[in-house]
Amino acid sequence: MPLAAGKALVPAHHADGAEPDLLVRADGGGVVSSGVDHQAMVAALADQVARKGANGVGSEPSTMHLLGQEEIDSGVPVHRILFLVVLGEPDDRALELDRERGHSFLAVDLPAQLRLLGRSPPSRDLRLRLDGGDGGRVGGGQWAQQHAFASQLHHRASLAETAKEGAMTEVLEQQQERPTELGRVSHWIGGQTVAGESGRSGPIYNPALGVQTKEVDFASPEEVDRAVQTAKEAFATWRAVSLSKRQELFFAIRELVHQRRDDIAAILTEEHGKVLSDAKGEVQRGLEVIEYACGIPTLLKGGFSEQASSGIDVYSIRQPLGVVAGITPFNFPAMVPMWMWAPAIACGNTFVLKPSEKDPSAANFVGQLLQEVGLPDGVFNVVHGDKVAVDSILEHPDIAAVSFVGSTPIARYIYETGTKHGKRVQALGGAKNHMIVLPDADIDMAADAAVSAAYGSAGERCMAISHVVAVGEAGDKLVEAIKERLPKIKVGNGMEPDAEMGPLVTREHRDKVASYLESGPAQGAKLVADGRESAPDGNGFFLGVSLLDEVTPEMDAYKDEIFGPVLGVTRVDTYDEAIRMVNENPYGNGTAIFTRDGGVARQFEFDVQAGMVGVNVPIPVPVAYYSFGGWKQSLFGDRHIYGPEGIDFYTRGKVVTSRWPDPATSKVDLGFPQTR
Ligand code: NAD
Repeated sequence: MPLAAGKALVPAHHADGAEPDLLVRADGGGVVSSGVDHQAMVAALADQVARKGANGVGSEPSTMHLLGQEEIDSGVPVHRILFLVVLGEPDDRALELDRERGHSFLAVDLPAQLRLLGRSPPSRDLRLRLDGGDGGRVGGGQWAQQHAFASQLHHRASLAETAKEGAMTEVLEQQQERPTELGRVSHWIGGQTVAGESGRSGPIYNPALGVQTKEVDFASPEEVDRAVQTAKEAFATWRAVSLSKRQELFFAIRELVHQRRDDIAAILTEEHGKVLSDAKGEVQRGLEVIEYACGIPTLLKGGFSEQASSGIDVYSIRQPLGVVAGITPFNFPAMVPMWMWAPAIACGNTFVLKPSEKDPSAANFVGQLLQEVGLPDGVFNVVHGDKVAVDSILEHPDIAAVSFVGSTPIARYIYETGTKHGKRVQALGGAKNHMIVLPDADIDMAADAAVSAAYGSAGERCMAISHVVAVGEAGDKLVEAIKERLPKIKVGNGMEPDAEMGPLVTREHRDKVASYLESGPAQGAKLVADGRESAPDGNGFFLGVSLLDEVTPEMDAYKDEIFGPVLGVTRVDTYDEAIRMVNENPYGNGTAIFTRDGGVARQFEFDVQAGMVGVNVPIPVPVAYYSFGGWKQSLFGDRHIYGPEGIDFYTRGKVVTSRWPDPATSKVDLGFPQTR
């Protein structure tokens, strides 16, 4: 059979985290032998590896192994296997080096058509082999991890836009059980990965594929204590590091995070599901807080009053608290931790982060970057886990302060428990963000804004617009304009370049969000667009965009924070009714008004009970030099996060009253010190 020229994506996957060897089967056996110029292929790969490193990260050349037939037949563990996926693009030379955490992709010319077959031998150890064939799609059934991996390649392949029908290869067989093959996410303590010993762990999924890809260790109280003791030890020296050194280090952190933003974003997309462009946006907003922290010498400037009393000067200083902790939600796995650790560490504290167990890998990756840049070990630590780890943090006597971002019931619990144990706590909770649209608003602009803010990141943003309050005649026009825009939204795997909205984070969450599409209409709302009908096929945790009109405050779809791609609309007759609705809602995170009337907008700013307000801006997340936070049940505690209030939160004030020896004015005086 004549074989077409093809372009191969060749990832070397190293789930064990070790520097990978690139494994190439090119021994002439099986299909690969058909028409393949092995020498040319291997030379091209070797050249890439020598220049870039097999994982696309290191500069050290990696070794290349050629697999013999016996090795292939006996199987190679998945984390050391080479995948070949052939696309039908001829004459495309070895040009492309793409990278993803744990994978590297090398493009080479392969004058062959291949397909990759996975097989599951009697042992649970996953084995794969390459085999030849006449192209065409193979596979089906439930996807297991090897399938997930092949699918990522599939999406990578789409990225390259070179796939041609019939030439794509996929892994064939189903793998039901493979716990030994899952990547493991462990704690990061004192500058090293520390394997969990509690025996408890949780699953991490790739939500776009609907498969478990990793397992994350859950810390015991002893493991949390180990992180806290490490941070406590590091505090003694870190707090003494000069402001100019800290500033220099933060400039370097800024540079490295900026350089590696695409890598961080890829991790976010893989575990959270948000589309890559959105993930990059998340990293960018986090970077802005790091940039703010670069100004730490200025931010920590105190006050000085000369001659407050005769011969006496008074000045204020702000000092770090000690070991501080951050507990963060799944929806911003990089940015929200940056809101905390950047100001906390710049202020001289040491930090223990407990990220969401749903997408924990970004935290460890950032830990490695901070170490690479020279942050002393022990200043930034990560413990993974669930309530056990959280409770250990809240009760730990050596933790001085806790920052929390997450849902309202947990925020309340964190605040109450943390403060009961004598800690300073800021706990940011959930939201129901209203957008009021007045009849004089530009309806197209308002519809664009509502759609962007409601469905971006699949509605899993605490600043998402989840409810529109349409005043008077704005209602019909606005609902129609929003409805028109919905079919154009491209829902898909976040790795696909044209995807605008990804899946929800877990299957359970997707199902919970979808349940409002039942309860809403049952309670009297009108289902204008049903995301269950427009969700992409497959096992991913997808739900398309949904619109519920004529929602009233008694309905569950209004009372609950849905946190998914479901936008509710309530029609009211007047501005007064609209503002009352916003103010009576128990949440008070963000809100927006769309109008052309400056006077009404100003009145809205004055009246509204919410912490962050947009005027013709749907997602008013404050820039890094202001602070972020809501009112009412969206915040427990009295300080907002990052910006000036963040610096305030992570430091405590000290006022020094000082007189230098002047024996001439010395005398005994039992009265209360006077300044006049
Ligand atoms: P979540 O409250 O379920 O989890 C947040 C953190 O708390 C995680 O680290 C989790 O492990 C931990 N946690 C969960 N249950 C716990 C328990 N019973 N005891 C102790 N710890 C527990 O929130 P989530 O689902 O990860 O994130 C989504 C929520 O976060 C939404 O409500 C969203 O509005 C909110 N959020 C708010 C803001 C804000 O700035 N106000 C920002 C982002 C997200």
